[in-house]
Amino acid sequence: MNQISDRIQALQPSATLAMSQKSSELKAQGIDVINLSVGEPDFFTPQHIKEAAKRAIDDNCTFYTPVGGYLSLRKAISDKLQRENGVFYAPEQIVVGNGAKHELCNVVMSMVNPGDEVIVPTPAWVSYEQMVILAGGTNVEVPCPMEQGFKITPQQLEAAITPKTKMLILCTPSNPTGAVYSKGELQALAEVLGAHPGVLVLADEVYEHINYVGGHESIAQFPQVAGRVAIVNGVSKAYAMTGWRIGYVAAPLWLAKAVTKLQGQYTSGASSVAQKAAEAAYNGPQDCVEAMRTAFERRRNLIVSLLRGIPGMEVNMPDGAFYVFPSVTAFLGKKHNGTVINDANDLALYLLNEAHVATVSGDAFACPGHLRLSYATDDKNIVGAVSRIAAALSRLEA
Ligand code: PMP
Ligand code: GLU
Repeated sequence: MNQISDRIQALQPSATLAMSQKSSELKAQGIDVINLSVGEPDFFTPQHIKEAAKRAIDDNCTFYTPVGGYLSLRKAISDKLQRENGVFYAPEQIVVGNGAKHELCNVVMSMVNPGDEVIVPTPAWVSYEQMVILAGGTNVEVPCPMEQGFKITPQQLEAAITPKTKMLILCTPSNPTGAVYSKGELQALAEVLGAHPGVLVLADEVYEHINYVGGHESIAQFPQVAGRVAIVNGVSKAYAMTGWRIGYVAAPLWLAKAVTKLQGQYTSGASSVAQKAAEAAYNGPQDCVEAMRTAFERRRNLIVSLLRGIPGMEVNMPDGAFYVFPSVTAFLGKKHNGTVINDANDLALYLLNEAHVATVSGDAFACPGHLRLSYATDDKNIVGAVSRIAAALSRLEA
């Protein structure tokens, strides 16, 4: 029997997770694969956070949690938003869930009706467009190529807005490009949005702390968009806590209530122990965040300088996150054993099979002709991966 709903049939699997899975399968066969596909810090969760989780177990924090998350955690997040971002969201406006991905999807499902348009500047993280498809909405892609720093301009935003526009999804620092919007750039976008009061901004700020150009700026700070920015963030990236699955949305109250209703019928409150760990992350010492950021910055410098040594590769300088997103068009149309490498998907597969390096094709991020490499790994892997990539690319025939 196979009776999959139209809704799920329309959905693509996550390319980032699929590539990572493929790399794990090859590793299980004894092949020495270097995995630069999935974006996940390679650090262990800091000790004081792990201790808080152990204490939570001993204190019997083992019961169902409130649907929107423990009040103490929502207070800690509200404080964090004021302290670090200068924006005010009351604890009732904050909903905690199973990762930022969960809350992004909850917001889209809570707001988007069939026929509604969602503006997605591309390259964009793999899951946004799939969430919009799940809700029956229409993705309006706005291509933002490397020449414009992979960022949407105010003119492009203005041109993309129609009476059907419900939402703009804005990710800064960006996955997959590492682009970071400056305060001035965000202000210019907010000014455009000022004339369109029906558009909500879904601001994905999960890479907030992995920033190499100074402090993080949130679009929520501008009065032109007051009351219509939903900030999504979580502990996965900043505190090396991907497996704990805690993220949140801070939203206008009506939206926070809708998200809570959805969560109450669908997933219930997030894990009790993980929430206590997240609370320790937000309320505890922050030097671990800076230590990891510094390591990522050093690795960024290393991978960019090594990739720039490969003839034909056009390499951007990421200002944040832990991805580099070079253009690889110089290698497309070349051959290996008579088989043509037609696109970046073929190239990513070639690199996996021949160089044993896992990357993700730009096609997954609606940006053909690029590859995404995650440098959330140690120097040895970075050096090894780039030298294998260089050797494999040099073997391609014209
Ligand atoms: N947004 C972006 C841009 C991401 O890269 C990720 C990482 N998977 C997420 C959201 C989701 O993070 P998580 O669900 O682990 O909090
Ligand atoms: N954000 C990470 C990535 O893009 C994790 C994988 C995912 O959730 O898609 O690789």
